[in-house]
Amino acid sequence: MLPYGRQSIDESDIEAVAAVMRSDWLTTGPAVTAFEGDLARIFGVSPVVSVSSGTAALHVAYAAMGVGAGDEVITTPLTFIATASCASLLGATVVFADISEDTGNLDPNAVSAAMTNRTKVVAGVDYAGHPIDVTALAEIAHAGGALLLEDAAHSIGGSLDGQPVGSLADVTTFSFFPTKNLTTAEGGAVVSLHDDVIDRAVRFRSIGLVRDPAMLRSPDEGPWHQEVHAFGLNYRLPDLLCVLGSSQLPRLPAFKARRDAITARYNAGLAGIDELRLPSCREGADPMWHLYPLRIRDGRRRALFEHLRANDIGAQVNYLPVYRHPVYADLGYRPGMCPVAEEYYAQEISLPLFPTLTDVDVDRVIALIRGFVGA
Ligand SMILES: *Cc1c(COP(=O)(O)O)cnc(C)c1O
Repeated sequence: MLPYGRQSIDESDIEAVAAVMRSDWLTTGPAVTAFEGDLARIFGVSPVVSVSSGTAALHVAYAAMGVGAGDEVITTPLTFIATASCASLLGATVVFADISEDTGNLDPNAVSAAMTNRTKVVAGVDYAGHPIDVTALAEIAHAGGALLLEDAAHSIGGSLDGQPVGSLADVTTFSFFPTKNLTTAEGGAVVSLHDDVIDRAVRFRSIGLVRDPAMLRSPDEGPWHQEVHAFGLNYRLPDLLCVLGSSQLPRLPAFKARRDAITARYNAGLAGIDELRLPSCREGADPMWHLYPLRIRDGRRRALFEHLRANDIGAQVNYLPVYRHPVYADLGYRPGMCPVAEEYYAQEISLPLFPTLTDVDVDRVIALIRGFVGA
């Protein structure tokens, strides 16, 4: 089965990991510092806080922004559930705002309508790798005293108006899961334009431990002394995985070029068919295409999915609107609250897209789809 996504691992990655296996540090060592520095150069923002997954990154980010009971977090339903559930876990109320029909990203008008004096964070997702409308969303969030979070699990290496993803929103989170654009097996990262947020993120990632002598409440306790001032978790990313990330990063431009080329090949091969809607790109955006989200009208998505699966093509669907998960349904969220996202979901099918996918395979997928729609 041809998967919809897969990692690109080469011999240099394997050797880099093996070298750390032989070193003194399996975790909290020099490879962590190096990876965070490498990411900071890509994002143009430092420091970077590496964490153990994209989900951990969201939990850390919300906690660092002070999200808790009584707060509202506005987010998109067209995402992996962690974008919403990490805010729910902290006791906040999640408010779903609808998406723009072209990009599948949070619609600024819908966010505007959903803002209240309890809104603490507006959390957008760079769906499929296309950056959110940061300018509009940040303006709306800031006018209401809220911060903008960009869940960039899909979009490391992308940019908007020439500025890299990571440098755009108040806080940005990343995932390095194997199907994403760059992998550390499991892993993630948090960056912020605000020093206080990043300081809290650093502590939350490491159980809340404080070691800085200037901050200790009992500085004379002894040289071994450390304190916890706020609760945290152990979300550290070990050296073994950080070194894989550092080894992958120099190939990020090549990964992007190949993802661009495959996207262009699908676009050309599937153009001009009324039944299909191809992904669109807004002016100023340079997406890191993580998904190729094709839409098929007339209720034929499931049939196309099964047709591709029957031909060994592992397509995927991204995503069930988050509020339709039973955990949210049980809280009283009802289907139909975001009609644009519902329609997007009903039509969407993600085609195989990863750097080692061959043109021959892309053409086979195109031919199967053209055959299916009779084009
Ligand atoms: C993958 C993903 C996450 C979670 O990342 P993990 O590393 O799998 O925990 C969060 N948000 C989005 C949009 C994702 O695609």
